[in-house]
Amino acid sequence: MERIAFISVHGCPTAKLGSKDTGGMSVYIRQVAREMAERGVYVDIYTRYHDPNDPQVVSLGERARVIHIPGGPYDDMKESLPRHLPEFVCSLLAYTVREGLSYDLIHSHYWLSGRVGTLLARHWGIPHVTTFHTLAEIKRHARAGEQEPEARVVGERKVIASVDRIVASSQHEKEAMVRLYNARGHKIEVIPCGVDVELFRPMNQRLARRSLGVRDPKVVLFVGRIEPLKGVDILIRAMAQLEQRDSVRALIVGGEPGGDPEIRRLEAMASELGISSQVSFLGRVEQEQLPTYYNAADVCVVPSYYESFGLVALEAMACGTPVIASRVGGLPTVVKGGVTGYLIPWRCPEPFADGLDVLLKSPAIRRAMGRASRRLALGMRWSDTAEQMLALYQLLLAPPLASAAAG
Ligand code: UDP
Repeated sequence: MERIAFISVHGCPTAKLGSKDTGGMSVYIRQVAREMAERGVYVDIYTRYHDPNDPQVVSLGERARVIHIPGGPYDDMKESLPRHLPEFVCSLLAYTVREGLSYDLIHSHYWLSGRVGTLLARHWGIPHVTTFHTLAEIKRHARAGEQEPEARVVGERKVIASVDRIVASSQHEKEAMVRLYNARGHKIEVIPCGVDVELFRPMNQRLARRSLGVRDPKVVLFVGRIEPLKGVDILIRAMAQLEQRDSVRALIVGGEPGGDPEIRRLEAMASELGISSQVSFLGRVEQEQLPTYYNAADVCVVPSYYESFGLVALEAMACGTPVIASRVGGLPTVVKGGVTGYLIPWRCPEPFADGLDVLLKSPAIRRAMGRASRRLALGMRWSDTAEQMLALYQLLLAPPLASAAAG
């Protein structure tokens, strides 16, 4: 196996993390591609041009690069992308012909890319692996009221029927695909995500707080894209119920304060509950700076209604910070209830407030959980993810036994 094509039509691995459509998937693609490249495989990541100033090719280091391909107007929303997919496919094919590129296998990310991957894999006669990252039906079941276009569900079903293998990030995601999409279990491989344990590592909490200018005695942290599925509303309501709420600050990292209606809604909620002065909406933060935030925090809260994996929980744990998370999707793969934090089975603020009260009051429990968290994170690295994926690719590329014997 020499050269792999990753397809990520809507999420550019070089885009700013923490804004609307750029989060865990971009991190996943970038990290796995780099790890594969380090193991001698060339990885080309195809994405659409998001900005007229994007250079066509961006290197991610030796053997891994991002290639921008025309695919609709730069600022088009993800929802209108399906109609630009034919342009993307044609431009991508023309590019590969011009550059004399051929691939051994395609790995697509998200259903839009899965549709592209299906066409290309058929055209080139090579295997196609997909990672959905999120699926419409699973989101819909997780949070009543979450509207996903029917075209997406139809598209996802087509991808599931056509791919050679699906990579799920957790057993929960695999089971949900079988239950909600009638996917065949043997086609789904569970490969957990990883974390960069060099970047995300424990550091002195006092120094971390000082460098952020945080003076409050206790700090609770949320990190992620700001959208209803992330459950920031649960955290804000929980904050209002804390026993010593006046000495606790919630740092909310992610999104773009100023115009985002979801942030405005959450700010209004904090104001109504009388805790505006205790909640700081900080906007998105470069990933290289995030370890300071995780280390400044006493507890990281992941109150999501659904999470296919939950990289933020693992990053906090790698920094030695306990996590209180909803018991949904892939989060139980990462957070071990009572050992590295708490898993909350209900999507309501009271049990989150209870967990926070316990942890904020007990430095000894926080320390013990922090140490267990770091230990667990050390066993979940991106190198493990990439190696499992390469093993899967090898399996798909190996000649069937009968023809190997005949040859
Ligand atoms: N992230 C970041 N800056 C931010 C907010 C998020 O770098 O301001 C990164 C974070 O470190 C994590 C990813 O975005 O790696 C979010 O991944 P997660 O799996 O938690 O959520 P998703 O975006 O996949 O829903």
